[in-house]
Amino acid sequence: MKILKKIKVYSYTKEVVDKTLCDICGEPVRPYSTENPYEFNETLITHKHGERYPDSGYGKEIEVDICHICFQNTFLPWIRKFNQTKAEYTKWSEG
Ligand SMILES: [Zn+2]
Repeated sequence: MKILKKIKVYSYTKEVVDKTLCDICGEPVRPYSTENPYEFNETLITHKHGERYPDSGYGKEIEVDICHICFQNTFLPWIRKFNQTKAEYTKWSEG
């Protein structure tokens, strides 16, 4: 769940994300460590539906905000209950 706040930009006010709360436990989602600036924990669960064309598109999407603890302790055990899933961690690297 995104908690928005209004900020003043020049002569108008706009809403920006103030903080994100986990949709399972309600705690703030903190994708970055406060101790190690290089460590992160991202969870991205979205569903998009619509139509895409070469130069345009439209549709709707939903985003679920889950902290890394609930992802590991609640979501993964739940999704692994289904026999079809092969949801396992894989290694990644960049650069
Ligand atoms: Zn959580």
